[in-house]
Amino acid sequence: MTSSRKVAVVTGASSGIGAVYADRLAARGYDLILVARRADRLEALAAKISSAHGVKVNAIVADLTKDADLAKVEKVLATDPAVHILINNAGLARLRPVTQSSAEDTGSQIALNISALTRLTQAAAPAFVARNEGVIINIASVLAVHSMPVSAVYSGTKAFVLQYTRGLQQELAETGVKVQLVLPASTATEIWDESGIPLSALQKESVMTTENMVDAALAGLDQGETITWPSVADAGLWDRYDAARAELFAATQVGKAAPRYHIG
Ligand code: NAP
Repeated sequence: MTSSRKVAVVTGASSGIGAVYADRLAARGYDLILVARRADRLEALAAKISSAHGVKVNAIVADLTKDADLAKVEKVLATDPAVHILINNAGLARLRPVTQSSAEDTGSQIALNISALTRLTQAAAPAFVARNEGVIINIASVLAVHSMPVSAVYSGTKAFVLQYTRGLQQELAETGVKVQLVLPASTATEIWDESGIPLSALQKESVMTTENMVDAALAGLDQGETITWPSVADAGLWDRYDAARAELFAATQVGKAAPRYHIG
């Protein structure tokens, strides 16, 4: 049986933030396509969500760091006209100093957090623009604007998501396609125990629940936000940061060396 409902594609849906997004979007009446590597987790979640919300849930078992698997998801995004939402959520953190990191850990963060997100967006965006509707939600991190000694690579990947998404938002501003950038702070998911810094090592009061993070991000989407900082009470902080960024950029556009370098 086919369904007339719109479809949301959620990457990294087998745990944490992605699993909560899947539940919330099903509650909003979307059919789902869930993407991750662990088939057993996806199947269990699909069964739970379809019985709770009565929507159709399919899984694509894919390692998004592998070209052939990525291509399977790209094809769905580019060709299935029912797809209305893409949530680029799959991500991974390996929090170690650069000098103590393996090439594999560095490469997998770049492949998943940057390359997969970029390729899936690039597969979905032209189809969404052609239909003049659709929503792309890119999950970055507060570490997009903050680096620590253990987070050079992870912060770098999330800074890419920030700049990439801001550029895409400008590109699609005159279309019916919405692009939301979400920057979560520490959220209680499995990512931490896998990262090298266990969740138990974080200060409890700095950690959000996964449900609160996703519900705040969706509330931001409903309010028309293009950039959502789920844990930041003073929304003006971003406006001031972004205004300073724009001022800095404008100050670079003068075609000559700054006087302090005494050149020319
Ligand atoms: P999580 O519970 O570890 O979930 C990560 C998801 O990504 C899992 O479903 C995992 O599924 C999937 N994934 C990992 N490697 C993959 C691969 N090679 N191919 C396909 N899927 C893969 O972590 P989370 O905290 O919910 O993370 C979700 C997003 O939020 C990430 O982008 C993360 O950077 C971001 N974020 C998290 C926090 C936080 O504190 N938790 C803060 C800021 C931003 P499989 O293992 O089954 O493949």
